[in-house]
Order: sequence, then C-alpha cells, then structure tokens
Amino acid sequence: MKLIDIINSDRLSLSFEVFPPKTSDVFESVKTATEKIAELKPSYMSVTYGAGGGTSDYTLKIAENLKNKGVPALAHLSCLTSSKDEIHDKLTQLKNHGIENILALRGDAPSDGTPIKTDYKYASELTEDIKEFGGFCIGGACYPESHPESESSIADIDNLRRKVEAGCEFLTTQMFFDNNIYYNFLYRLNKAGVTVPVVAGIMPVTNPKSIKRICRISGSALPQRFVRIVDRFGDDPESMAQAGIAYATEQIIDLFANGVNAVHVYSMNKPEVAEKIKNNISGIIK
Ligand code: FAD
Repeated sequence: MKLIDIINSDRLSLSFEVFPPKTSDVFESVKTATEKIAELKPSYMSVTYGAGGGTSDYTLKIAENLKNKGVPALAHLSCLTSSKDEIHDKLTQLKNHGIENILALRGDAPSDGTPIKTDYKYASELTEDIKEFGGFCIGGACYPESHPESESSIADIDNLRRKVEAGCEFLTTQMFFDNNIYYNFLYRLNKAGVTVPVVAGIMPVTNPKSIKRICRISGSALPQRFVRIVDRFGDDPESMAQAGIAYATEQIIDLFANGVNAVHVYSMNKPEVAEKIKNNISGIIK
C-alpha cells in the first residue's frame, strides 16, 4: 500500500519507527521487537537505514517482514555512500520484495570511515532517481528547526522545495519537543509553496542521556518544561519513562487537536513505549 493514501486520508494516522540490527547475532531479537510493535496495528512502520549502508539488507528484511505481518512498511534509503548503480540495485531489490514506500535521504558521513561517493550530493538527487525508476511512493526528511548544515532557515526551505519538486510526496519531521516550532514551520512551508503533507515526528524520551546527545547532533531544542522533567526524573528510569511518555502523549494530542492527521513516533525498537503511547490515545485514534 502506498503511504500517501494513508497519510492523505481523513483518518488519523499513528506510525512507529524502528531500526535494523547492526549485526546478525541480534537480528532475531530486533525482529521480535519490531513484530511486537506491529501487533499494535500502527498505520505504518518505518525502518531506518544504517549510515554507510552496511546494514541495508537488514532494513529490507525487517521492512518485508512487517509488510508480511500486514503493516505497510516504509524503508529508509540514504545515498551519500552509494553509487547510482548501487542505488539502482537496492531499488530493484526493494521492488522485488514488494516494498512500495521509500524515505529518500542524503544521510551523513559515516563515522566508521566508509567512503563518501560522488554520484549524489543531496536527497533531492536521490528522489529524482527513485522517481525516474518508478513504482515507489517517496517521502523525505525535513527539519522544523532547520537542518544543522543549512545556511539559513529560508535556504533550508528552498532546498526542501527542490526535494518536493523532485518527487517527494510527503515529508517527515525531525523530532521536536515544542509543537509551536512545528506549527510555525508549517506556516513557513505553506508561504514557500510547499504543500505536501508533513508528518510530525515525536520522540518519547525515556533515556535522558541519549537525548542530550541526539539533540546536540540534530539541533532540536529542549524546552525548559522538558529540561525540568529530565532534571527531576532523569536519574530514575521508571519515573523518567513515565514522564517522557506522558510528555510525548500530550504533544500528540495537541497535534491531533490542532488538525494534524499524521504523527510518526520514534519508538526505537521499544514495544513497551509504543504500546503505552498507543493506549494513551486509543480513544482518539480508534
Ligand atoms: P538533504 O535534503 O540533502 O539536506 C541536507 C542539507 O543540504 C540541508 O542543510 C539542506 O538545506 C542542504 N541542501 C539540500 N539541497 C541543496 C542544494 N541543492 N544546494 C545546497 N544545499 C542543499 N539518517 C540515516 O543515516 N538513516 C536513516 O534512516 C535516517 N532517517 C531519518 C529520518 C528522518 C525523518 C529524519 C529527519 C532524518 C533521518 N536521517 C537518517 C538523518 C539524515 O540522513 C540527516 O539529517 C542528513 O544530514 C540529511 O539528510 P536529508 O535527506 O535531510 O538531506
């Protein structure tokens, strides 16, 4: 099933993100965790792509398994370390395994020394290629607080417009912790003529140590209200998990209440977190 039909429908959409294993010895445990999330019957699930592409076979296997379990799958694909021929091989594989949806990404330079190739510089070029290849619904990433490398927020939105013109049918945001940042971003996109659906990316924070690192890399700001939660509960895993899930739930309810139809939860292979979020809004997304 093409995701754009889910995202564009009048029904509220709640989706979850998982990541593939890095090594074969944990494949089964990751697969089991993703299947538990699939049992929650989300609108769709996305499977990330390891920097450097070394785990791309696992992205495909996990995505295919989720699709076979009845959950539409979105396979991430990044291009910075691939040649055009390699990307075309991956597209052929995805197609042969029945994957219909791709999140087209540039990716970042991998820290393991995998060399960067020169065929693709930006995600818009990958998008153009996938579009030409045909048969996929293509999504792209966007950054309500601007991509950390962008010259300015205006230039970033201009580049986003290029990605949409190249064939991105929907965008998914980087996580944000203040919904006003997202609403403001939508306003600026609309003014710039970018009118594709923008799926709101929400991260339930249960581990305060990782969130500080992730925010440093992604440029997402942590509002004072959230920092106070981390300061007070960060040392107690049970309290932090409950507070982090409650915070994310509040964000999701506010988004739905304000007319947003599609929310993507960065559930990070944690079925218990996904289940709590789903239960917290079960009356809203029934
Ligand atoms: P691009 O859209 O190419 O943008 C990158 C930068 O280049 C931006 O600053 C943009 O403004 C600028 N730019 C774009 N076009 C031009 C142009 N024509 N001229 C000048 N500047 C330009 N990473 C992974 O490795 N695996 C994943 O699975 C993964 N999933 C992600 C999912 C989401 C929803 C998000 C938000 C990010 C994800 N990432 C993932 C991280 C992503 O790869 C990085 O943020 C990366 O730095 C940028 O990727 P992009 O596709 O947004 O790049």
